[in-house]
Amino acid sequence: MITKSKTKIIATIGPASWDNEILSQMINNGMRIARINASFADPEELTRVATQIRTISPRISLMIDTQGGKIRVINIHNDIEVKNSAKLSSNEYPGVIQISYKTLAEDIKIGDKILIDDGNIELVTESINNDIVECKVIQEGILKSNKTVAIPSLNLHLPVLTERDKIGIRSAIENKYDFISLSFVKNKEDIKEVRNIIGNSNIKIISKIENKEGVDNFDEILSETDGIMIARGDLAVETPYEKVPILQKQFIYKCRAVGKPVIVATQMLESMRENIKPTRAEISDVSNAVMDGTDAIMLSAETSTGKHPVESVITMNTIASETEKYMQTTKIYGHTDASDEVDEICRNTCDISESISLKGIVVISKTGRTVASISRHRPNIPIWSISNSIERIRQDNIFFGVNTYFMREFPQDRDLLIDAVVDTVYSHGDLDLSDKIAIISGSSIRHNSTDATLEIVNVKDVLSR
Ligand code: PEP
Repeated sequence: MITKSKTKIIATIGPASWDNEILSQMINNGMRIARINASFADPEELTRVATQIRTISPRISLMIDTQGGKIRVINIHNDIEVKNSAKLSSNEYPGVIQISYKTLAEDIKIGDKILIDDGNIELVTESINNDIVECKVIQEGILKSNKTVAIPSLNLHLPVLTERDKIGIRSAIENKYDFISLSFVKNKEDIKEVRNIIGNSNIKIISKIENKEGVDNFDEILSETDGIMIARGDLAVETPYEKVPILQKQFIYKCRAVGKPVIVATQMLESMRENIKPTRAEISDVSNAVMDGTDAIMLSAETSTGKHPVESVITMNTIASETEKYMQTTKIYGHTDASDEVDEICRNTCDISESISLKGIVVISKTGRTVASISRHRPNIPIWSISNSIERIRQDNIFFGVNTYFMREFPQDRDLLIDAVVDTVYSHGDLDLSDKIAIISGSSIRHNSTDATLEIVNVKDVLSR
């Protein structure tokens, strides 16, 4: 069995990874979260993939990724060569490219850029005649149906969820998915709207930052969301691409400060869709994202439609693990959703972990808040999150450095609880008798107090009790 990186690997599932053997190998080689793109999966597909993955390993977390408010080219039956000039409309006319944005002609201005298919085709608006927008072609290309359209200068009035997304989310909740990654989040109202739809489900919302509004409103989005995905694919089309590397660093830092998980996504090992080895630039990109302090890194087409899904996971795990050897614990300040007492205990535990040579930190996880509070310091020793809820185990799975273990029942007696958790971690082969570990738990397991207790124990002493 390989050593799995502390940085969590999310892999997108698609035709290239539907096979049981391939999925098992991806899991064995470091995939912790499976992402299913709702643009390509109907409810039956969401159920089928959930059942398949849960049968292989109930510990793997599931993430549904919504379509969101995206404009697309529609009703093209044959490929079109776009060159010199092009006409666009939200209505259907011969010789006019139809797009799915109803108020295009009202909202757009002369001189606005229109980027189709991730910017592979670039137009600039020259005139507007009723509902037809006439454009000069800056970058020519071949246009296929369903390609995405970005108009970076516009604040689009599009709902955060499509009707298809709402159906997908209902199915994801029924199938106990752990995360929704929400495309094109514009502001905190979008998140509140989705919270209304998910009702009392405990599914966590990961907001994808992928356009100018998302960037401008990042702080309010962060205060409302459960986590962030830096969706660099659309972000580099919707905002100047040269700004994306710095935004990545800023967003990661802000997420760490409040203890919310952050994912770096898109084209991390893009060339591995075809090739068995990554490019040198991709190796650096994965390593730099890890150094930036992200919780998770994501594979998209590499594992959903690429030729080498297993090798892509192995490559990502190898690069991340190597980089982590050089990372130091970096304390971070700011308040998480945990109490001030928990934040202080977690920060101080990281502080003393080196001076008293702790082997690792155990967290008895009830809400995930303590796990979030400790993981944000990126300690260079393992964090073992122990919970009696399999849902909790899967949601704690996203945090950097956290290994999750299930324990069916927590003894009510404090000493017996310590014995049981040390037994659990020891029996997974993570401890030696000579090790010393920290255990953080609620001060009173029985009464669910919000305070926390830090206990430092010698493994040998506990196991010989
Ligand atoms: C992205 O744009 O980077 C992204 C992750 O979104 P999607 O893969 O859904 O286009």
